Amino acid sequence: MSLAFPVPLKPVIQPPPMVEEILTPAEREALKARIKTLMKQQDAVLVAHYYTSADLQDLAEETGGCVSDSLEMARFGHAHPAQTLIVAGVKFMGETAKILNPEKRVIMPDLQADCSLDLACPADEFAAFCDAHPDRLSVVYANTSAAVKARADWVVTSGIAAKIVKYLHQQGHKLLWAPDRHLGEYVRRISGADMLLWQGSCVVHEAFKAEALAKLRAGHPDAAVLVHPESPESVIALADVVGSTTQLIEAVRTLPNPEFIVATDNGIFHKMRAAAPGKLLLEAPTAGEGATCTSCAHCPWMAMNGLRKLAAVLESPAGDANGGNEIHIEESIRAKAAVSIQRMLDFAAAEKAGKIQLGD
Ligand code: SF4
Repeated sequence: MSLAFPVPLKPVIQPPPMVEEILTPAEREALKARIKTLMKQQDAVLVAHYYTSADLQDLAEETGGCVSDSLEMARFGHAHPAQTLIVAGVKFMGETAKILNPEKRVIMPDLQADCSLDLACPADEFAAFCDAHPDRLSVVYANTSAAVKARADWVVTSGIAAKIVKYLHQQGHKLLWAPDRHLGEYVRRISGADMLLWQGSCVVHEAFKAEALAKLRAGHPDAAVLVHPESPESVIALADVVGSTTQLIEAVRTLPNPEFIVATDNGIFHKMRAAAPGKLLLEAPTAGEGATCTSCAHCPWMAMNGLRKLAAVLESPAGDANGGNEIHIEESIRAKAAVSIQRMLDFAAAEKAGKIQLGD
């Protein structure tokens, strides 16, 4: 059954210009010292995504926070006793943290840090998509707004998407999927589920080029190719490992290969180098025939996070013009979104405990 492109391809979201924070060593140390003092005063913990700068990742670990994927960021924030969560990442991550931790203050270095997948899936259009297909359960990727999560039946991350879709398929459900078409197509291929796909994409992963990747691999025969499933099908087809950010870091740590070609945001290299110091890490190419690279393997929204902005947010009073960059979500939306996220968390716990058996 071919269900390719049942909804129109979403226009490519134009990302903001890439502006990376550049600091002298003295500026970096002064900013970090200031931030650490402010964090203590405000009972704050920093959770940073793997795609943020090395400075933010280091600071998170030096201050007892964590560096991880979006789900673990929210989980960590929930378990940590701090009353303020600083989320260094993009807006949907801050929202997810707030959905799971409504009693805590959740702030971000820059509230304009968005995501092309979230932007390509407005809540009203998604609701119309669901309304047009009442016979299908809706499954959305974590990279969506709180309002889209509130409308969905299930929320999934890339690490668990295939298992949940397979489970729902085995239960006899037909599905709607949003917003990433590449991840949706990948999950549909390996689960065999009947899925209608929203047609959004990630500006970073969309840019990887299969032909150039094949050439690079030919020159590095000992390298394993690691690919995030938001990448196009032709790139996934060349992968030795397809997985979430956490799974790709684990592959670098555990596989015997001395070299890796990595098709995901290059911010992840900071963690990979720490996990496997002696191994050679190469960026999968975003150039080549038909190249339209708008990201060059780094997310321009993730790059909006930095030490200067973090210090400024911690110094700004909550009542000022930008509200101290605090995340607020209307309670009716938050509560519904929490139900869809909780289904995933419960599934993950049950699967880990061996209470869910997935057939072939
Ligand atoms: S890397 Fe892609 S999926 Fe991740 S935040 Fe940036 S645009 Fe969104």
